[in-house]
Amino acid sequence: MSRIAVFGTGYLGATHAACMAELGHEVLGVDVDPAKLAKLEAGEVPFYEPGLDDVLKRNVENGRLRFTASYEEAAAFADIHFIGVGTPQKKGEFAADLRYVDAVVETLAPLLDRPAVIFGKSTVPVGTAKRLGERARALAPAGNDVEVAWNPEFLREGYAVADTLHPDRMVLGIDPESPGRAEEVARVVYAQLLEEGIPFIVTDLATSELVKTAANAFLATKISFINAMAEVCEAADADVTVLADAIGHDARIGRRFLNAGIGFGGGCLPKDIRAFMARAGEIGADEALTFLREVDNINMRRRTRMVDAVREATGGSLLGTRVAVLGAAFKPNSDDVRDSPALNIAGQIQLQGASVVVFDPQAIMNSRALFPTLEYAYSALDACERADIVLVLTEWQEFRELDPQALAPVVKNKVILDGRNCLDPQRWRRAGWTYRGLGRR
Ligand code: NAD
Repeated sequence: MSRIAVFGTGYLGATHAACMAELGHEVLGVDVDPAKLAKLEAGEVPFYEPGLDDVLKRNVENGRLRFTASYEEAAAFADIHFIGVGTPQKKGEFAADLRYVDAVVETLAPLLDRPAVIFGKSTVPVGTAKRLGERARALAPAGNDVEVAWNPEFLREGYAVADTLHPDRMVLGIDPESPGRAEEVARVVYAQLLEEGIPFIVTDLATSELVKTAANAFLATKISFINAMAEVCEAADADVTVLADAIGHDARIGRRFLNAGIGFGGGCLPKDIRAFMARAGEIGADEALTFLREVDNINMRRRTRMVDAVREATGGSLLGTRVAVLGAAFKPNSDDVRDSPALNIAGQIQLQGASVVVFDPQAIMNSRALFPTLEYAYSALDACERADIVLVLTEWQEFRELDPQALAPVVKNKVILDGRNCLDPQRWRRAGWTYRGLGRR
């Protein structure tokens, strides 16, 4: 079993650290946020991720998983290091902000006096791994015995544990000019996964970085494609959900990621496609990715479209209306509200004079921190109290199962707008509600 340090203990890093311990390794999680570390040390997950609590608690208790703020401790403890810090969008431009990834290498490398492998997991612009490798070798007392390899992460929030322990595939980028021990080390770390027969693709650094951004660009494009079809369906009085089912039967197309609605958000897709465009420009390939600008435009237009639809449904003005918003997280089974379409729409509606009450099963705390001026409720029913209109903006199972009969006496007007096309229109209409989905009659 290996000794591993994981730098950054957010959604990616905490999950990776806990799952590596679950595989039997000894793991030290490193972060700069003392509040986060305190929770993790106590065996508590500082965010909502189904199933992660158990894995974390079990491995903290059995002593395989510890946390620290000390890079010195990490460098002394492990010779295998994973970078899982954030790579957010830079303020005011499309490019990724690499300061956190750089900081890990700048702080860690000078402490490496034995051979070591640093695996990057954060999503980075192509070319970053090569640059970091050169920097690490220049800074480390162990010099050329320090390697940087890239091992992009594909986990989905809401399924992070299963995706880490049973991924669809693993990708490893190594420096073809000096292929050191990275592949051999990765094969030991991921031995159990490899035994399961999970595809393991070993390639050069640049390809490994691009696999991640290409995958996200593809998914974003698929979502924006169906949302563009939703716009056409609205204009043609057609139904995008039927269209999606019908084209989805074609195995070359597939039904997944064809749910029209208010579009994608979160801490990954929006910033990743923008960073991809920015990087393509820097390396002289910008024409290849101009379509992503349209993908981004279509996506952002969905939010405006939803606000317009709410205004239309409330008689042309939002002033003085009471709007119940069900869902704040960017997707169900997560408390992540980074660039969440739901919260963004709630904020825009409030700006137009409505009083907005938001409920989300897990994301209230994060939402309050980001949008303190919105009103928050502690149940769907509370949020809907005297509402002129109810909006479903995140497709939590709890909202899919809402009983239109039970909700009817609570609201002022039985009007529901389904921003995720996740409800059964017939069921709501039969109960006397005015139901409207996006991209359908
Ligand atoms: P996050 O913001 O939840 O976590 C980042 C963590 O890094 C924070 O806890 C922060 O305190 C810590 N940190 C910052 N600087 C540090 C430093 N110098 N040393 C140690 N820790 C430091 O972000 P996240 O969602 O976990 O994303 C991390 C990376 O993984 C990003 O590049 C993201 O694109 C990528 N990724 C995320 C997901 C996902 O679903 N969240 C999936 C795949 C890839």
